[in-house]
Amino acid sequence: MKVNHHMLELENNYLFSEVAKRIRTAQAAHPDRTILKCSIGDVTRPLPSILTDALKNAAEEMHHAETFHGYGAEQGEPFLREAIAGYYTKRGLAIDPEDIFISDGAKSDLGDLCDLFDADNTVLLPNPVYPVYFDTSIMSGRRVKFLNGTKENGFLPMPDENEKADILYLCSPNNPTGAVYSREQLAVWVQYALAQGAVLLFDAAYESYISDPALPHSIYEIEGAERCAIEINSLSKMAGFTGVRCGWTIVPRTLRLDGASLHDMWLRRMSTKYNGTSYIIQKAAAAVFTEEGQSAVHEDIAYYMENARILKSALTKAGIWSTGGENAPYIWFQAPNGMGSWECFDLLLNQYGIAGTPGAGFGTAGEGYLRFSSFGTRETVQAAADILETL
Ligand code: PLP
Repeated sequence: MKVNHHMLELENNYLFSEVAKRIRTAQAAHPDRTILKCSIGDVTRPLPSILTDALKNAAEEMHHAETFHGYGAEQGEPFLREAIAGYYTKRGLAIDPEDIFISDGAKSDLGDLCDLFDADNTVLLPNPVYPVYFDTSIMSGRRVKFLNGTKENGFLPMPDENEKADILYLCSPNNPTGAVYSREQLAVWVQYALAQGAVLLFDAAYESYISDPALPHSIYEIEGAERCAIEINSLSKMAGFTGVRCGWTIVPRTLRLDGASLHDMWLRRMSTKYNGTSYIIQKAAAAVFTEEGQSAVHEDIAYYMENARILKSALTKAGIWSTGGENAPYIWFQAPNGMGSWECFDLLLNQYGIAGTPGAGFGTAGEGYLRFSSFGTRETVQAAADILETL
């Protein structure tokens, strides 16, 4: 018997456990101090009542024989797939509900999509990177190449047409850098994917944070993407569903690679290995896409984006270079005076009681940078900003 030895190649998930450990140590050293956590990747706003009402009503349906639901539709309930298609229609995009698969969130699908591709493929990843893309590529035994984000390219690396790759991951707006690709830049990526015969996995988990009308929310705003791209999205950050769990993935039937329909393969994969998202959760998810639901979730998004503005403006006043925080809930900033990521993390934590996330934990190109998240409470963010401004 042999285990999947590729799993043994994974490094321990050092970043978040190490951040938590150092915060605990700092708290123990100063028990009276409130550590201002600008490091959290989880939302803090409670669900709006339109969503909790939908949850309660759907739970009540389960109590009555006439409205009880057992196993659900394989791809997700039609009412939710239609609501999501309607969300794209408002942006002028015709996405067929048949191409939408409901999931329990983006992370699972980002990992599970690996089942569709041969292990003998080369994966191209941005560096710094959301760790799930890297870890799932390693687990499935694939070669990984990186494209570095830098201050010069605004942490928006572009492909080199002479570089061969088969599976491309893009995240825009980006975690951890908060950088957002323009339409023109995404068009270059789509052309590159088509020329290579590659598949582009587009993670749009933060698209609802875009307010600049010139910036694209979906890869399908780019011509040709329906022939090379899969889009992964989630209600975690759009609607505070990190604990509720629901997302969706679009695999267009026009997407054929290596002579196969990825849509048919994904349907086969999901109907074999996924039980479906709970009916109750799908009812709450559908409420997100109603007019009232959108207005409620956008109030929370506006709250977080005001946090981002406060943090970014404090960094600017302190003379610290940053990107992101304008159409994304993450702010990526350069550690001052040539400090390393962890050195600056320790200084902020131990001297000022502010916790960020060291950029080096997201890849070698993150060294010398840190990430702030705007998902904290206003009190935390304002207190951190007041300190930062005085640096
Ligand atoms: N993609 C990115 C870039 C993320 O930052 C996250 C969560 O932090 C996810 C996907 C996962 O989202 P979900 O909660 O839907 O699994």
